[in-house]
Amino acid sequence: MEYLTLNNGSKMPMAGIGVFMMSPAEAEAAVESALKSGVRLIDTANGYMNESGTGRGIKKSGVDREDIFLVTKLWPTVYEKETAIEETLKRLDTDYIDLLFLHQPTDNWREGYKNIEKAYKEGKVKAIGLSNFPEELLREAIETMEIKPHVVQVEAHPYFPQTELKKILAETGMGLMAWYPLGHGDKNLVNEPIFTELAAKYGKSNAQIILRWHIQSGNVIFPGSKNPDHIRENFDIFDFALTDEEMAEIAKVDKGMRYYTATPDLIAQYAKMELQPDL
Ligand code: NAD
Repeated sequence: MEYLTLNNGSKMPMAGIGVFMMSPAEAEAAVESALKSGVRLIDTANGYMNESGTGRGIKKSGVDREDIFLVTKLWPTVYEKETAIEETLKRLDTDYIDLLFLHQPTDNWREGYKNIEKAYKEGKVKAIGLSNFPEELLREAIETMEIKPHVVQVEAHPYFPQTELKKILAETGMGLMAWYPLGHGDKNLVNEPIFTELAAKYGKSNAQIILRWHIQSGNVIFPGSKNPDHIRENFDIFDFALTDEEMAEIAKVDKGMRYYTATPDLIAQYAKMELQPDL
């Protein structure tokens, strides 16, 4: 495993598993299976409505809590709620969160940020993240918040490598967690000829070549999968390295193409979307 050292000194595993679009029972099984195969970073969110299953998967795995890097995200409708972080801890059945994000840049994000800062000072949150924040709000947070954010979580893959954002991250030492690291499984991306060629060279799958590209680009990855074989495969990317020339070849597939665009209308909808209880 390789680790990213955050700008507050914490060490974050560079590969893990995300449990987006899983029921609590599916998240429980995926988390247990991932932890048992050596994965140590788990990414969930209030909005995935499976934090309780994620917590059960952690307990069932038998892996010590301090050996796990647990990431979750506050949903906009609870940003201003004083008990939101306590309730999150309760669902996850844990005393602390390694990295807590604000999930969406809704108008009330500043209040949410202050609640996370308070929990950070109390030791209940070990690092602060901003997810899906546009560059101007990211800069505002860096310039105005007492505790600077440590990590951003954004869509990133070879079709959209986040070149502009990376300049801000380099200035501030913030880390990047790449969501949709495999383009949400898009066959066009996964089957790009350069990945097939390198997969044959290294005896790896196309997905593993893409994930290795992320690691060497400094991106933390947490591909989604319910398939134990894929979960193991996605983690088996630390025994080879792409050359500088191969990294440069992969850079050529950049299409400036996002799969998801957060329009102002969509963000306004998120601000009103009430959380449903976990099952
Ligand atoms: P992904 O890019 O990880 O792709 C997942 C798809 O690829 C699935 O269809 C899966 O079956 C397939 N796949 C996984 N491993 C494979 C392999 N080895 N070979 C072939 N196919 C494989 O997209 P995702 O799962 O949607 O996103 C990953 C994580 O990102 C989510 O679980 C979630 O935690 C996070 N996420 C965050 C946000 C956000 O707003 N912060 C948004 C979307 C997703």
